[in-house]
Amino acid sequence: MPFTLRGYRFCNEAKRCYFCRRNLIVTTQKSSMRIDIVTVLPELLESPLGHSIIHRSQKKGLAEIVVHPLRNYTHDNRKTVDDYAYGPDAGMVMKIQPIFECFQELQAERTYDEIIYTSPDGEPLTQQLANHLSTKKNLLILCGHYKGIDHRIRENMITREISIGDYVLSGGELAAAVIVDSVVRLIPGVLSDETSALTDSFQDDLLAPPVYTRPAEFNGWKVPDILLSGNFGEIEKWQHQQAVERTKQLRPNLLNRKDE
Ligand code: SAH
Repeated sequence: MPFTLRGYRFCNEAKRCYFCRRNLIVTTQKSSMRIDIVTVLPELLESPLGHSIIHRSQKKGLAEIVVHPLRNYTHDNRKTVDDYAYGPDAGMVMKIQPIFECFQELQAERTYDEIIYTSPDGEPLTQQLANHLSTKKNLLILCGHYKGIDHRIRENMITREISIGDYVLSGGELAAAVIVDSVVRLIPGVLSDETSALTDSFQDDLLAPPVYTRPAEFNGWKVPDILLSGNFGEIEKWQHQQAVERTKQLRPNLLNRKDE
């Protein structure tokens, strides 16, 4: 039976982390997830959502991702979604009314586990947060534009604000695509065994070890002998050492991170 720990869904049958032998969050249970994205620029999401793993997850019925053009919820001929900011600063702000009506319509259809606003001042997107979101059933993501959205929406309707990094983008669509990609690939059954998310960087707070493929030698550059040895125990040990070494060198802060 699956069980929940610190908000993550574990499963007794879950595959074990190949470094530390702990059960990680990915369950063997197949379940589907619904993600609604609200945007003024749906075209920006067509390509990221229409290819590769995200596309396949939808074809396999493991994820349903629906994009809602915010202008459909306006009532004027020009389909206005923004207005001048109060105060002395120049710039436009996304209006409450279309967002409110869109959310009301969606919330009448289902209950959302999280209503997310993409925002540079939100909590940073990490692997732990992606793991956590991947255990949810229904997510709603609002992409901001211009100077952002009327703050009353943030205060009254948004349950979580997420930033994809300390820099400012022109709109929330790319951020939404990054969040969706990092989450959807964790849904059991989306990745094949070969590309299992369990061995990726940041799972277990370690960077991934280096990887190689054939030929064993190219241009005088050799694959490490150990990988050709066929001794899987020794190979796993080497990979673990490499992971720890690379983490120490490149991201030592990860090694000191306490479990959230
Ligand atoms: N004036 C705002 C930035 C607005 S940028 C500020 O200084 O905080 C326009 C929109 O792009 C934002 O509303 C947000 O939805 C999105 N965005 C910009 N940078 C982002 C980031 N780092 N992470 C997530 N979303 C971001």
